Amino acid sequence: MTEASTAVRVFGRHDSPAGHEQVVFCQDELSGLRAIIGIYSTALGPALGGTRFYPYESEDDALADVLDLSRSMAYKNALAGLDLGGGKAVIIGDPETDKSEALLRAYGRFVESLGGRYITACDVGTYVTDMDVVARESRWVTGRSPAAGGAGDSSVLTSFGVFQGMRACGEHLWGSSSLRGRTVGIAGVGKVGAKLAELLLEDGAAVVVTDISAEAVERLRSQHPDVQVVDDTDALIRSDIDIYAPCALGGALDDGTVDALRATAVCGGANNQLAHPGVEKMLADRGILYAPDYVVNSGGVIQVADELDGFSFERARGKATHIFDVTKRIFTQAAEDGVPPAVAADRLAERRMSEISRLRNIRVPS
Ligand code: NAD
Repeated sequence: MTEASTAVRVFGRHDSPAGHEQVVFCQDELSGLRAIIGIYSTALGPALGGTRFYPYESEDDALADVLDLSRSMAYKNALAGLDLGGGKAVIIGDPETDKSEALLRAYGRFVESLGGRYITACDVGTYVTDMDVVARESRWVTGRSPAAGGAGDSSVLTSFGVFQGMRACGEHLWGSSSLRGRTVGIAGVGKVGAKLAELLLEDGAAVVVTDISAEAVERLRSQHPDVQVVDDTDALIRSDIDIYAPCALGGALDDGTVDALRATAVCGGANNQLAHPGVEKMLADRGILYAPDYVVNSGGVIQVADELDGFSFERARGKATHIFDVTKRIFTQAAEDGVPPAVAADRLAERRMSEISRLRNIRVPS
């Protein structure tokens, strides 16, 4: 694999032509590093997005993933109100067996070589301890441990942001942002789902959960015995819930799920919930309010982005509170434009990217 860069033409959301600014292939034979860094857009600032460490079957699969993920980050960061563009990186390999100090530091040197055009963070298969190692070779690293000056576990504000999105759903549907008396079904009670359950219980909601990991369920139940448990996601979506919160893997909303779903709203932390284009319309046609995933789960990126200014939890939490207003604005825009909320969110993100990047035409003496 050799360095190859610049302008890969792909089709953007809703089939409008769009292109990535830069794609960089990185290789270090001795440490076994094979990575691809994708920068979709720096229109709003340096491209921020995590590093996924995953055993892709082929380089083509890894490339497709990094192109998709980096584009999503541009939209997420735009609607999170950050002065940051969108990027992502993938390391090809099994994080359990292939990860080493040398590999992570080799990766850090490639991140550094981009001079701050790309800023990395954790994602599937990478953890705060890994970011501490990457940061020994690069200044452009977030998601580090608190001991290293980092923001630590980003699921804290991710779950908080999803909760803000749910409050916006409540206000839109029932005229109250309180979820007291509502029932929320959470699929996946890992880092995000378990913290979300706690926020909901505090607010007076009833919580039903499912997880393929008995240990994850038990961990939550030992703290909160009043949480109800059902066997699987199929049972959850067919149960009497007001809001469905997918907090496990992507693709949670497909044709079958939408048909069977009894909830009035969907709002969860998982990335890429819509299994294919058109599901957002199926949800709208069934009268189910969908809070776009990348909007409501942006608390995590807000948390790690705050590291760039010297991390303050209170400041980051304040910014994540705005997810409530942004989600409401998307619902209003969707109603005005007669489109599903997912389409309204994309339009608002694209508008911000274009309006703010245009300002660079105004010359400022340096
Ligand atoms: P996690 O690995 O801690 O938790 C995921 C949980 O889902 C695990 O307990 C797992 O057993 C469970 N699960 C997996 N498959 C399942 C299935 N088929 N049915 C039910 N449960 C299943 O991950 P997390 O950090 O909590 O992230 C959850 C989701 O949120 C992911 O999609 C992630 O990409 C997304 N997300 C996370 C963050 C963050 O800050 N952690 C930020 C943005 C988005």
